[in-house]
Amino acid sequence: MNFGGSIRRPAETPSRTQGPVKARTVDWDLKKLAPRNTNVLSTTTPIRKAIFLDRDGVINKKLPEGHYVRSPMEFELLPGAAKALSILKKMGFLLVIITNQRGIARGYMTLSELIKVHKFMGEELEKEGVSLDAIYYCPHDEGEKCGCRKPEAGMLLAASEDLEIDLSDSYTVGDSLSDIIAGKNAGTHTVRLADERDINAESTFPSLLDFALFLEHQAVSKPIPRPDTMIVL
Ligand SMILES: [Mg+2]
Ligand SMILES: [Zn+2]
Repeated sequence: MNFGGSIRRPAETPSRTQGPVKARTVDWDLKKLAPRNTNVLSTTTPIRKAIFLDRDGVINKKLPEGHYVRSPMEFELLPGAAKALSILKKMGFLLVIITNQRGIARGYMTLSELIKVHKFMGEELEKEGVSLDAIYYCPHDEGEKCGCRKPEAGMLLAASEDLEIDLSDSYTVGDSLSDIIAGKNAGTHTVRLADERDINAESTFPSLLDFALFLEHQAVSKPIPRPDTMIVL
């Protein structure tokens, strides 16, 4: 996979010993995506747009610092999150979760526990009529120079390549500065979820639903460009 040189790995550490740079649970495999319409655009042109979503504090309730969601029992969807995702999906965005999960590297949870939590998240959202397109996680700790842990852009770049996403037409939404930096590094628009304006992000909203409603409204109210051939008498 070509990351355009954005992934920095120490030369002495082969990538296969690092564990997966990215991973999806099987339920949200690429197979679920509709084939691209290659009749319209060149096959090399990325035509998809995505919302890259941080998980904890965006989709589900964040646990106190140093605590990790290790089981479905500890996973609680935030109010309005499912509705927001449904709006964004209807607008034509792929929904891609991008999450740091260093609890794995630190030994607080196992990979299979994380996958169970993600399966549960997918099922809870499916109940609300929303299906995620992909989940990327970084299981590494700080200082591992893995290239995928946010604020590095590795997971977004991998998703962009895997799913043929146009990054410049996509948004990264997160409740932490590292999400915003990762989104910027990848060349996406950036949205911080916070109660106070974050000058590092292009925009700040109190919740994912507020952002989704804003984007939906903006799309609806955009003036329709007048065709050049139109003559006004
Ligand atoms: Mg977060
Ligand atoms: Zn990583």
